[in-house]
Amino acid sequence: MDAPVDNARAVAWPARMDHRRRRRAFHLLLATGSIMVLVGLGWGVFFAWRGEWAVAAMELAMAALGAGVIVMARLHRPRAASWVAFVGLTGVLCFFSAYLDVPTAQAPRTSHVFLLVLALCGHHVFRDEKPWLRYGLVVALLVLFVVFAAAPVTTPSSLAIAEDVRRVGIWINLATAVASLLIVVRLADSDIAEHRALHRALRDALSQRRFVLLYQPQVDAAGRIVGAEALLRWHDPRRGLIRPADFMQAAEDSGFILPLGHWVLQEACRQLAVWQATPALRHVRLSVNISALQLRQPDFVQHVDDVMTRSGIQADALTLELTESVLVHDMEDAVGKMRALHAMGVRLSLDDFGAGYASLSYLRDLPFAEMKIDRAFTRDVVRDAHAATITRNLLQLGRDLGIDVIAEGIEHDDQFALLGGQGCVLFQGYLFGRPMDVAAFTERIASS
Ligand code: C2E
Ligand code: MG
Ligand code: MG
Repeated sequence: MDAPVDNARAVAWPARMDHRRRRRAFHLLLATGSIMVLVGLGWGVFFAWRGEWAVAAMELAMAALGAGVIVMARLHRPRAASWVAFVGLTGVLCFFSAYLDVPTAQAPRTSHVFLLVLALCGHHVFRDEKPWLRYGLVVALLVLFVVFAAAPVTTPSSLAIAEDVRRVGIWINLATAVASLLIVVRLADSDIAEHRALHRALRDALSQRRFVLLYQPQVDAAGRIVGAEALLRWHDPRRGLIRPADFMQAAEDSGFILPLGHWVLQEACRQLAVWQATPALRHVRLSVNISALQLRQPDFVQHVDDVMTRSGIQADALTLELTESVLVHDMEDAVGKMRALHAMGVRLSLDDFGAGYASLSYLRDLPFAEMKIDRAFTRDVVRDAHAATITRNLLQLGRDLGIDVIAEGIEHDDQFALLGGQGCVLFQGYLFGRPMDVAAFTERIASS
């Protein structure tokens, strides 16, 4: 089975879902679709052979639905595949349980047992979705299971399956449900094992000094380098340089981001101290990404202060990039720490502005020195008038509030020209340089 790792497939999942989880959800969708096809086809052919055409048609419809799930998952439409699988299959199972699989004294109902399997599968497929969806789906499926198991839902139905078929059918149905449950557990387990292995590998990488920081230039309107963003890479001897998308989620889930983030800050400040001691590089600012979990640590401010003091850097050359996710948990705590960092002279930047639900009030009320316009807007700025209106207004907002605005993800001259025309004076993107090692970065400044 192909793993869904390319970008096209990635866009349809929630942004915070890493490749590992995408691959697991993809495999679970394929398994769900395959089981629907096999069960639907098997029973469909059987009932067609018995001449019970209405039941056969419904079984075959379930098989068609399953085929649709497989095709959509393979065509990089995982969200659509998930909805068809879960909404479609829930509907089919409720219908079967209420009208076809009507319990009698000799043969109990069994179709509803698949609702349990579906709940477990849904828990894994929707794990990175919003809580109302993640838990809502599982709770709804479990409630339906309880209703069909406990309540006497015995609709008098002309479609009810004959007693002799049902007596054999319960064994086949239960065996299939148990086998499906094992498949789901196995797929989820393989993910847990993979997660543990990844966590171990990350820990080893830190102790073996296999993490490196790359530096991506930030330039002014004339294209001169005025700063850099430190971007983390994991140097794996077998796989080469690995980007954060492949390990950051696991690092955050396991708490490993704390020692890793500690290393990043130390390394960035050490590098900044070197630049500040070099006349040609003294003006270069350095931005470091800080995750929500790091900011939530009670001693985070003290920790930043210690690292800065030890490295001897000038505080205003260091920018800490935060996304609005840091404000979601305990806003009061985050705001207190941000004010303390600001008082120490550290600059704070609101990263990925526009990518989530960033509120304008964050910019008004919090001590941000900078806002980074997300690539979602700068990418389309030339061909989409709405995106251009938004960037123009964000730049005006920055001027009104006295906040620097930097446009991220600039890849082409026309984006640079258009945003420059709107008054943007800070840029970052492949057009000015990809993330590069420190030697390449310093050489780049020397030659500019
Ligand atoms: P970010 O902070 O928004 O960083 C910018 C990302 O966009 C980087 O990806 C960069 O390589 C990429 N990028 C820059 N210019 C362009 C462009 O013109 N076109 C395109 N398509 N992409 C561009 P990268 O290095 O893979 O980092 C991804 C994310 O990982 C970062 O997003 C940041 O949220 C996180 N990250 C990276 N390093 C660290 C770190 O040290 N600590 C923490 N907590 N997070 C980090
Ligand atoms: Mg950033
Ligand atoms: Mg960004």
